[in-house]
Amino acid sequence: MENFRYLKPAAIDKALSLKKELGSKARFLLGGTDLFIQMDKGFVVPETVIDLKGIDELKGIEKKDGYVYVGARVTWTQLIESDLIRKEFPALWEASDIVASVGVRNTGTLVGNICNAVPSLEGGSPLLAYNAAVLVKSSQGEREIPAADFFTGVKKTALADDEMVTGVKIPVKNGKFGEVYVKMGRYEGEDLAQAGVAVVVDDKNNYRIALNAVAPTPVRAEKAEALLSGKKLDESLAEKAAELALESISPISDIRSSKEYRLHMCRVMVKRALMASVSRMETGKPALNTRLI
Ligand SMILES: Cc1cc2nc3c(=O)[nH]c(=O)nc-3n(C[C@H](O)[C@H](O)[C@H](O)COP(=O)(O)OP(=O)(O)OC[C@H]3O[C@@H](n4cnc5c(N)ncnc54)[C@H](O)[C@@H]3O)c2cc1C
Repeated sequence: MENFRYLKPAAIDKALSLKKELGSKARFLLGGTDLFIQMDKGFVVPETVIDLKGIDELKGIEKKDGYVYVGARVTWTQLIESDLIRKEFPALWEASDIVASVGVRNTGTLVGNICNAVPSLEGGSPLLAYNAAVLVKSSQGEREIPAADFFTGVKKTALADDEMVTGVKIPVKNGKFGEVYVKMGRYEGEDLAQAGVAVVVDDKNNYRIALNAVAPTPVRAEKAEALLSGKKLDESLAEKAAELALESISPISDIRSSKEYRLHMCRVMVKRALMASVSRMETGKPALNTRLI
């Protein structure tokens, strides 16, 4: 790894003024589980690394005014340990629980995950399915980017060079709901997703379906959602919706999977995730982390 300057500011404003001054020569650091691997391989060579772990304002999970706010420093482990996330956002809870291994989850963050923006990212689909927003700050001001607009390509986001993600904001749902995140990996443990599916349903028969690792960015299966909208789910409708979901994805063949296998399994996963989400809403079962594939 090349030598780099390491800075650890204690306030957002200080970090932002450093980033403004240094631009693309500096990178923000959270858990480092993506950044340091890329630096080690020479894929990115920042002159300065700005560690955000000294900034208390970026900590915590908070429910306020109809939203749950997840700060940039919140790790996957903290999400799993949060009763709020477990109860109100089970798809995000399931996605968090299946990232890598304990060691990576103890340091890696949801915000680092979405800023890294690889197609397989576990955090993308739940945030899309929730219609979440990404909270962004620069020394010029702040803005919110809908999760659906945040991802612009493979490892690309809507962030400008001088901007920092301070957290994400997820709307709290009213009424009954059921959710699932299902991941297909090659083996148990530290493997990135071959495909991932998040589904959120409610008792007014609204359905939201998002997929990761099967397109350059996480995507919503909008045609399938439209087919389902307002209808009570049964096996045959779930089957049709799963077929239609394939029109929203564009998987490739790579080291983890062939395109054909991804397509086949996405159909299976979308159908099972839909059925399981409705069942969870109605009966509380299957329990979190029940294997669907
Ligand atoms: C062995 C192993 C297994 C893994 N398995 C999985 C897996 O199963 N699923 C999965 O999704 N991922 C997996 N990952 C990837 C990684 O762990 C996650 O993406 C993690 O959530 C990244 O978070 P981090 O805090 O470590 O990010 P960092 O590495 O600190 O940062 C990631 C990127 O975001 C930028 N950044 C950080 N903070 C900000 C900010 N506030 N504003 C703007 N830009 C910022 C950094 O400059 C960097 O480019 C794995 C990684 C390893 C090493």
